[in-house]
Amino acid sequence: MKITDVKAVYPKYRHLAPSWRTHFWQIVVRIDTDTGVTGYGYGGGGVAGVTVVNGHLRDHLIGREIESVSDIQATYDMLYMESLPYGRKGLGVMALSGIDLALYDLLGKARDLPVCALLSDTPKQGIRAYATGEDAQHYRDLGYTANKFGHRWTGSDADYDTAVRSAEHVREVFGEDALVMVDVYMSWDAEVTLEMSSRLADHNLYWFEDILTPDDLYGQAALIDEVKPTLIAGGEHEFTRHGFDAIARAGAMDLWQPDITWCGGITEGVRIVEIAEKYGIPVAPHRGGEVWGLHLIAGSACADLAEYHSDHIRDERDILWLDEPAPIDGYISPSDRPGFGVTLNEALL
Ligand SMILES: [Mg+2]
Repeated sequence: MKITDVKAVYPKYRHLAPSWRTHFWQIVVRIDTDTGVTGYGYGGGGVAGVTVVNGHLRDHLIGREIESVSDIQATYDMLYMESLPYGRKGLGVMALSGIDLALYDLLGKARDLPVCALLSDTPKQGIRAYATGEDAQHYRDLGYTANKFGHRWTGSDADYDTAVRSAEHVREVFGEDALVMVDVYMSWDAEVTLEMSSRLADHNLYWFEDILTPDDLYGQAALIDEVKPTLIAGGEHEFTRHGFDAIARAGAMDLWQPDITWCGGITEGVRIVEIAEKYGIPVAPHRGGEVWGLHLIAGSACADLAEYHSDHIRDERDILWLDEPAPIDGYISPSDRPGFGVTLNEALL
């Protein structure tokens, strides 16, 4: 099938978290073909991402034939090269991710297969979901057996106590066997991490997420042995196989969390998982409970772990994609509908 039109749109969100997200949150990419099949993708970059797609990459897509996964990979590689002077990391690749996902949606619909079945003959079902948020009792009541709470270092020693109290509470609610993790969004430093590691030791945390900035790979590598058995996790702010290859070579993280709507789509997601396999690193994509990451988890050698955010659990959000699967008793499965199996809520455009 031949691509006849490409259009990116920044939806009219009403529930965006403050900071960079109000400007550069997720975009929708729509790709039409001469067969009448239309693919939808979800990328990043907000208004800037829309300009990258509509103002530049679209020109390289019109008239292109897409018949196979290798056609999609070749298209991704071509667009990566075209956008390389301003792309590679950040907004350019976030926008390109939306195109890649729209192409996978398109191919799945053309073949009447879910995306995970384009990636694997035996896609996984019943993936363990973990709840991200601060409402442990609610998640436990819904059947989750894994919870990640948030923590921010604000510069006061009292921050040690808030972390310990949160960990204590989640462990108490969920019991000994649950997975308990903490996401600190790049707010700790090496000294805080070491002190936290000793103060949190009794609560047996599975991972510390995003402790330093993604530029400080060697700083994180130096902490890995010091905080064991807790893992150092991260990667939502890293891009493409080149970025993850650098993480691997530095030995900077025990568990990788690429965001499939930012890091280069399914094409780069698959390549990142291949590198991870070589190094024996588990991959648990950022927001892996949303269909874009979920189909990669189901169709590749990712860890059996899908992140589900509290705004999704509470539904305090703009519902842009209709018919998204949700965890049941703590487990989530991609649907068997073609493509990513979701419908765009046009009311938000
Ligand atoms: Mg995170």
